[in-house]
Amino acid sequence: MNDQEKELEASAYKSLKEHYNTLSATPFALTKLPSLSFNQRGAIAGTAILNQNHIRLNRALLKQHPRFFTAQVVPHELAHLAVFYHFGRVKPHGKEWKMIMTEVFLLPANRCHELPLQHANVQLFRYRCDCRATELGIRRHNKVQRGQTTYVCKDCGSTLRFEGNK
Ligand SMILES: [Zn+2]
Ligand SMILES: [Zn+2]
Repeated sequence: MNDQEKELEASAYKSLKEHYNTLSATPFALTKLPSLSFNQRGAIAGTAILNQNHIRLNRALLKQHPRFFTAQVVPHELAHLAVFYHFGRVKPHGKEWKMIMTEVFLLPANRCHELPLQHANVQLFRYRCDCRATELGIRRHNKVQRGQTTYVCKDCGSTLRFEGNK
């Protein structure tokens, strides 16, 4: 990682901490600072991984739009985590999310980012087979939990096992 990348990551953490502190003074506080990673790929700016209190940012897009990320993407995803923590699985950009954006962060509640950047909010569940760790989305996870199906790794042939969260 070069100096420019380190600085960009530091600015993303700084934005996260500032908005987290703002949130802490309200009824929508989170009990733990979310973790950040920078391995989001493709055209997606960021993903809020709701059940892991985690935000995944796209390093390549962060480089291209650093101010947009610190001013908009980070608080946008953080607001999704706060909504999930306090209200559960409500509409992603519903009234709870809008209220946090406009009344807590004092930001416009743009559903879609102004730039052609997409984002996602998902729940991911950690699974493991005999050869590697992987993640399943909530629909597949629920099917496994209800005993409706099992998933088998194409490489090692063993069944994916749920590892629990955190
Ligand atoms: Zn959103
Ligand atoms: Zn395997």
